[in-house]
Amino acid sequence: MTVKLILCFLLISSANAADVTLDVGHSRRHPGVISAGGVPEWELNRQLAEEIAKRLRQKDVSYRLIGADGAMEVLAKRTDLAKHDALFISLHHDSVQPEWLKQVERYRGYSLFVSRHNPKIGESLACAREIGDRLLAAGFHPSLYHAAPVAGENRPFADRDRGIHYYDGLAVLRTARQPAVLIEAGVAVNLEDELRVTGKVGRVRIAEAVARGVADCLRIIRTSISKEPRQERKAERFD
Ligand SMILES: [Zn+2]
Repeated sequence: MTVKLILCFLLISSANAADVTLDVGHSRRHPGVISAGGVPEWELNRQLAEEIAKRLRQKDVSYRLIGADGAMEVLAKRTDLAKHDALFISLHHDSVQPEWLKQVERYRGYSLFVSRHNPKIGESLACAREIGDRLLAAGFHPSLYHAAPVAGENRPFADRDRGIHYYDGLAVLRTARQPAVLIEAGVAVNLEDELRVTGKVGRVRIAEAVARGVADCLRIIRTSISKEPRQERKAERFD
């Protein structure tokens, strides 16, 4: 290992910071929704996180995977582990209200959430817009149903065109110290939508869109927090 590489490693270790946290929603014991195809949501979230991570490495963006071993049960621990990272992205696949399951084919698409209790709500929303733009450009559409005026939904739009909602109480968005966005990639209980975002082609497309949005977002964050040149940092895993 060269002196330069050792120095680079020490800089990353001392700062203990990655460009972005990829938070794999749920756990093996509490896996979230079971998809129409019978796959636990945690597993879908993990696979999507790995696909996004692959693309971040290609873009020289460092990342920290949280929850990829399925053992992360405490939500506040996720954001605590991520506290030095520049951006927090939580990955999920969606469900619908139980009474809507009879017509589940009507519910499809991605959703993005930000919290007004996050200390960086302006940058969170800016990042969600970048990700939304990339998802729209890749041919995905927002689900929009989380704004429905029924119990359990009622998530107001922060940006309707891009499918971004305010969800102020969501624990990881609220407790994150950095800009944070929660992504519902698609409606996993609708088989057609599950296949759209988890099939080989669909997952690659959605992962590339998210990775591009993340890279765009990191530029916004760095512009807004500091004009100083950032330290040299190679793509790294912090899990
Ligand atoms: Zn979930």
